[in-house]
Amino acid sequence: MVPVVRTDVCVVGSGPGGAAVARALARAGRRVLLLERGRDWRANRLYGTYPGALRYADRHALLFTREGLNIVRPLMLGGATSMFAGCAAPPLPWWRERYGIDIDADAAAFAAELGVAPLPPELRGEASTRVAAAAGELGMEWVPQDKFIRFGGGFRCGAHCLLGCRCGAKWNAAELVDQARAAGAELWTRARVAQVLREGDVAIGVTGRHAGCTFTVHADTTILAAGGLGTPEILRASGFAGAGRGLALDTTVMVYGHAPGRPGQGGDPPMTWSHPDPALGVLYATLIDPWLLYPIITALKGPAYPLTWRRWGSTLGVMIKLTDEVSGGIDERGRVSKGLTARDRERLGQADAVAGRILRRAGCRPDTIFTTPLRGTHPSATVRIGDLLDTELRTGLRGLYVCDASVFPEALGRPTVLTILALARRLARTLAAPAGGRA
Ligand SMILES: Cc1cc2nc3c(=O)[nH]c(=O)nc-3n(C[C@H](O)[C@H](O)[C@H](O)COP(=O)(O)OP(=O)(O)OC[C@H]3O[C@@H](n4cnc5c(N)ncnc54)[C@H](O)[C@@H]3O)c2cc1C
Repeated sequence: MVPVVRTDVCVVGSGPGGAAVARALARAGRRVLLLERGRDWRANRLYGTYPGALRYADRHALLFTREGLNIVRPLMLGGATSMFAGCAAPPLPWWRERYGIDIDADAAAFAAELGVAPLPPELRGEASTRVAAAAGELGMEWVPQDKFIRFGGGFRCGAHCLLGCRCGAKWNAAELVDQARAAGAELWTRARVAQVLREGDVAIGVTGRHAGCTFTVHADTTILAAGGLGTPEILRASGFAGAGRGLALDTTVMVYGHAPGRPGQGGDPPMTWSHPDPALGVLYATLIDPWLLYPIITALKGPAYPLTWRRWGSTLGVMIKLTDEVSGGIDERGRVSKGLTARDRERLGQADAVAGRILRRAGCRPDTIFTTPLRGTHPSATVRIGDLLDTELRTGLRGLYVCDASVFPEALGRPTVLTILALARRLARTLAAPAGGRA
């Protein structure tokens, strides 16, 4: 049994939301304890490898919704940024216009600090650039995607980067944790929080299990940042019955085609070019699954599709990310439900046709073009602002806040991380103020 611990601020989860708020509050002089369910894999020889990804992704990367949609959910220090594509996008204008939340300057500050920029032309990948040019010939303006990638020496990016970055080029929220610790924060890895503790209408900390033992943390301020699936699970166990009702995933498919005799996108960094279509509510980008994941993913479509694996080296891919409607959710036993609404399905069908046209234009044989099954990498909107939270990220319990993708009031349909970092910066500013954000 780990003794009861006391701290000023307890942060649960070390993804971009938790790591950013922990760093800011540690730098503001608060005693911060950061609790993370997973381990720090960065120095492990398996980090960034196929066996590694199977170890640190929830359910060995075989987490499916009841409808069969595959969710990739890394559980480790740095959260999903340990496996992300390194893309950055500023907050959408609707944060300000519909919810009165102005985080533009906070996002700009993080973008400047982390050197967010597109990769230079010579690193965008020949095949990916060919796809973007083909889209341009069809009248769609694809733009070089902003990246959280340091492209100086040591850059060795390719499709395999989605397993975890081994060359150190891609920024990871675990770096914010390192900085938080340098400022005095304490970190417990393998500490899984189960519940928020309360006295009347005040949150007084959390309880959970650390390396097999029960622990209790008492804190003046508790910030849940366990991600779009983790935070509602904790809140549900703490008496918030509405947590996890509804879910957005930015549901994604890949459209693949074979362009014989020319290199495919396997050696290109993921998502170097993209094109948002806000009217349709989709984002297109250049992407292909890493070599050994490709046959696994395509097998979900049908037994014939893994046979296309031999053509992986000359395959082109267009990713479609849908701004999906909030639907489904997480039930009391933790099972996730998420399919597509009729409207989502219709929009995805239209985007699918566009992607097919682009691939044909880029030289893919029409009979080789196919679409993979649905998947989701952005679980969000499960503890929504305007529903369970106010615009200051406060819950109904005094001293309890949420700061991660679960707070999104609707699907982003865009890279999420810069928005989450900005929300964390804004929350930390309020909490570090002399009144400490108390209502
Ligand atoms: C393959 C992939 C590619 C992506 N590419 C991009 C991209 O290019 N750009 C972009 O902006 N976004 C991308 N995303 C999405 C982005 O990474 C996530 O939306 C973002 O990291 C969510 O941040 P978060 O703070 O909400 O939670 P997370 O990053 O999920 O972090 C939550 C943390 O909480 C921990 N946790 C969970 N439950 C508990 C508990 N009970 N107790 C303690 N700790 C707990 C988890 O282990 C995890 O470390 C990608 C995601 C994936 C999976």
